[in-house]
Amino acid sequence: MPHAEPALIFDLGQDGRANRYVEPGRALETFLPADMVRKDLPLPDNSELDVVRHFTQLSQRTFGIDLGFYPLGSCTMKYNPRVNDAMAALPGFAQLHPYAPDALAQGALQVMYELERSLASLFGMAAFSLNPSAGAHAEFGALLIAKKYFKERGETKRDKVIVPDTAHGTNPASAAMCGFKVISLPSDARGRVSVEEIRKVLGDDTAVCMMTNPNTLGLFEDHIAEIAAAVHAAGGLMYYDGANGNAIMGNVRPGDMGFDLMHLNTHKTFTIPHGGGGAGHGPLGVAAHLVEYLPTPVVVAEPNPDADPALAPSDRLNFRLDFDRPKSIGPMRSFWSNFAHAVRALAYIYANGADGLARVSQLAVLNANYLRAKIAEFLDVPYPEICRHEFVASAQALKKQTGVRALDIAKALLDRGFMAPTVYFPLIVPECLMIEPTETESKETLDTFVEVMRAIVRTAHEDPQALFAAPVTTVVGRVDETRAARQPDLRWRPETH
Ligand SMILES: *Cc1c(COP(=O)(O)O)cnc(C)c1O
Repeated sequence: MPHAEPALIFDLGQDGRANRYVEPGRALETFLPADMVRKDLPLPDNSELDVVRHFTQLSQRTFGIDLGFYPLGSCTMKYNPRVNDAMAALPGFAQLHPYAPDALAQGALQVMYELERSLASLFGMAAFSLNPSAGAHAEFGALLIAKKYFKERGETKRDKVIVPDTAHGTNPASAAMCGFKVISLPSDARGRVSVEEIRKVLGDDTAVCMMTNPNTLGLFEDHIAEIAAAVHAAGGLMYYDGANGNAIMGNVRPGDMGFDLMHLNTHKTFTIPHGGGGAGHGPLGVAAHLVEYLPTPVVVAEPNPDADPALAPSDRLNFRLDFDRPKSIGPMRSFWSNFAHAVRALAYIYANGADGLARVSQLAVLNANYLRAKIAEFLDVPYPEICRHEFVASAQALKKQTGVRALDIAKALLDRGFMAPTVYFPLIVPECLMIEPTETESKETLDTFVEVMRAIVRTAHEDPQALFAAPVTTVVGRVDETRAARQPDLRWRPETH
């Protein structure tokens, strides 16, 4: 059913209808500070009921994980338990001023310390910084660390960063922003980095090799130990893009695979609401030889001599922010961290426990393989082996037979109550659909998704025209994506309406 287009609140307004819920005869303007109200943009006169309906309708013109299945590969759109938000909203956390002295912020510092320690042990790194605000931000920070590390060793010739062709676009972008030259590494027939290929590009100019494991095809790089050894033998550092942490958490550790640097996207793996560019959180992990370079400040714990000796040693600690780190690359943002996200992530870790987190990734992998096997009944799956938390399908053959592309399938899904998968990424698979179900979806939801996908593919064969206009039930129909990117028009203007 197409939604009725809600009328704009400005059009609904009528003089005299005004704000009776405020006070008869008095306009809303009189209750607002004068300098907040633009005289040329008068507030519309509306009844309270019209205003309530308007904003409620607006709130429903969206799609999110709370509304339906969101199989957006590489983004880990899993359900975010509300208890995490409740923890972040506790007044002691939410109302704490970032400049509160350490002595008055012991609880908050303890949260940061315990999250840092938990991530270090889960991912096998010596230490993490909670400073960066997103995965890409942490990539940039890690490359600054690498740069400084090589400079101090007098190895300034190391200016190349190796990035496999399945990598997320942020990897080469971060390397280029940091002044490195990017070497793109082709994947082999199995969709992985081959030891032979990487050996060809390694040398005394290699700085960093950035890898995602499992990679964005959802495949585990099974030669990772050999690759890490080869990069280290050439004097380079290994960087782990941990956006796919949901596939490995509690089962294998990047530190044990030979990585020196890594990031996590706690907003993906550790159930923090994200999407639409909202606040992220990208802890940056390092192996022992790079700890001194981490961004400042770092939370440190010291024995508290005044504590009750009856308490366990772990409860007799004093926490403080350490800014005195001469080799640090310095702060990467204002204040210390997206702190509310640190609270959410720690709440999630403690709610699950070590075994629970391991089970999360096992179920994410199980769900992905269930979908992969089912989808392969009617769409090509170019790498048809056991995947990790996600897999890619291709609409290339379907397009040749029917003209229906991955984009049309994605748009058709929107009409049928599902968010679309990631499309056209990774770049090496033509007409790619990258599907990540996550562990939080039930078998029933996955089965419904499969049957809807099957029906879309059947429609593609029988009546392809029916898919070219999709989506037709959403508030905004098919957009001209080229024009949207080239000539973005982001502001509603009363004069053009
Ligand atoms: C999301 C993602 C990134 C970037 O992370 P942001 O937090 O969005 O900056 C990097 N690599 C991969 C594989 C990703 O999925």
